[in-house]
Amino acid sequence: MDHKLFIYNSLSRKKENFIPINSPYVGLYVCGPTVYGEAHLGHARPAITFDVLFRYLKYLGYKVRYVRNITDVGHLENDADSGEDKVVKKARLEQLEPMELVQRYVNSYHENMLKLNILPPSIEPHASGHIIEQQQMIRKILKRGFAYESNGSVYFDVNKYNEKYQYGKLSGRNTEEMMANTRELAGQDEKRNPFDFALWKKADPVHIMHWPSEWSEGFPGWHLECSAMGTKYLGETFDIHGGGMDLLFPHHECEIAQSIAANGVDHVKTWMHNNMITINGQKMGKSLNNFINLSEFFEGNHHLLERAYCPMTIRFFILQAQYRSTVDFSNEALQAAEKGLKRLLSAGELIGKLKTSPASTFNLSEIINETFGALNDDLNTPIAIAQLFEAARIINLINDGKETITKPDLLELGKFFNSVMIDILGLISESNVENKGNLESELMNIIIDLRLQARQKKDFQTSDLIRDRLNNLNVRLNDTKEGTTWEKE
Ligand SMILES: [Zn+2]
Repeated sequence: MDHKLFIYNSLSRKKENFIPINSPYVGLYVCGPTVYGEAHLGHARPAITFDVLFRYLKYLGYKVRYVRNITDVGHLENDADSGEDKVVKKARLEQLEPMELVQRYVNSYHENMLKLNILPPSIEPHASGHIIEQQQMIRKILKRGFAYESNGSVYFDVNKYNEKYQYGKLSGRNTEEMMANTRELAGQDEKRNPFDFALWKKADPVHIMHWPSEWSEGFPGWHLECSAMGTKYLGETFDIHGGGMDLLFPHHECEIAQSIAANGVDHVKTWMHNNMITINGQKMGKSLNNFINLSEFFEGNHHLLERAYCPMTIRFFILQAQYRSTVDFSNEALQAAEKGLKRLLSAGELIGKLKTSPASTFNLSEIINETFGALNDDLNTPIAIAQLFEAARIINLINDGKETITKPDLLELGKFFNSVMIDILGLISESNVENKGNLESELMNIIIDLRLQARQKKDFQTSDLIRDRLNNLNVRLNDTKEGTTWEKE
């Protein structure tokens, strides 16, 4: 493939030319949610970031297998292997079976992702469905001497691993430093070192989710699932592993150690991390009472929100920042994003109505090159969006008769605009998202098909009649090169 996509690799700390291990196939693994509550803004950012990566890789012609897991067991409240399992605790509070709770929040997560126009991953494995694979990995690590059993639990031996490999190479931390920063926590005496981490935890008698093993009735440590499932579906070494920056340490650091300890090789070539979201300049957190669920955004149902914001506004807003920069949410910024997106969507609708001239008065290829140059530069979506705004400005000028465009350029412009807006950035008009899959939408598809057939038979009387009658109902059809979309005024 004759493009130069550069991706910032958190492991090498530099931008590298992306070359798949086995082109045209690309293996992509992203840490999915721990499903014990409603999806919030913090879930939206990695989902959108890696959705754009998934879409762009496909646009470039790669065949991508995208694995995004569901954590439904083993994620304890405390990073140091203590505290209750998040899913079990919430299930107890809501008086549900843990798997009932998991199902509820998986459904809700999917609904929110659909609203944000996020493509489903190719495989969405659950941690609880891969206990055998995780146990096999533990056995491998034990056999190679990088783990030890203690009172029915199995811990990863960081010091032993460090004799041969380097624990901390992703986060840049070293064990001496970690030792100095670690406070001994109650219940940690099973571990040889406070920074050793659990591969298998013996279950408390009250713990509902547990499985038999030679070590104890227990459950796998949180970090293990991603190593086990990544290897199962993408191979011992695959192309890209993504996730939020908050997962870099200890989660991803532990994943690297586990995979090397089990298989002797790094399981990931390129590590990508999206930065965090702040709200009015503050870190998001349950204790700060500024945690906003996605559904609260869509309904305007939160004390920090002046009103509701459409999912597409949230998506656009997040993409206005490069994924490695922080994003600060405020009502003001969201309202500005809403206006900006509207301007782009209306420009897109205008393209089909523009008149052509013998000459173009502007340089289209410059806009196209700048846009793809930005996307190839570590998915620099803000610069790509700035170029779309430049294209929108010109589209409006052509419409006003102040600039001109040739017929081939107009075709090129339509193709470019739709590819970047719809296929790559996943930005579509809100009505197209909302109407996915309902009766109204199905009926509209039938009407649009009938009108297309009429036009193909050059029966413009009928096609115009359909358009005008819909107009009377305040339903507007937009003809684009990609097909016809519709919108309620
Ligand atoms: Zn993970």
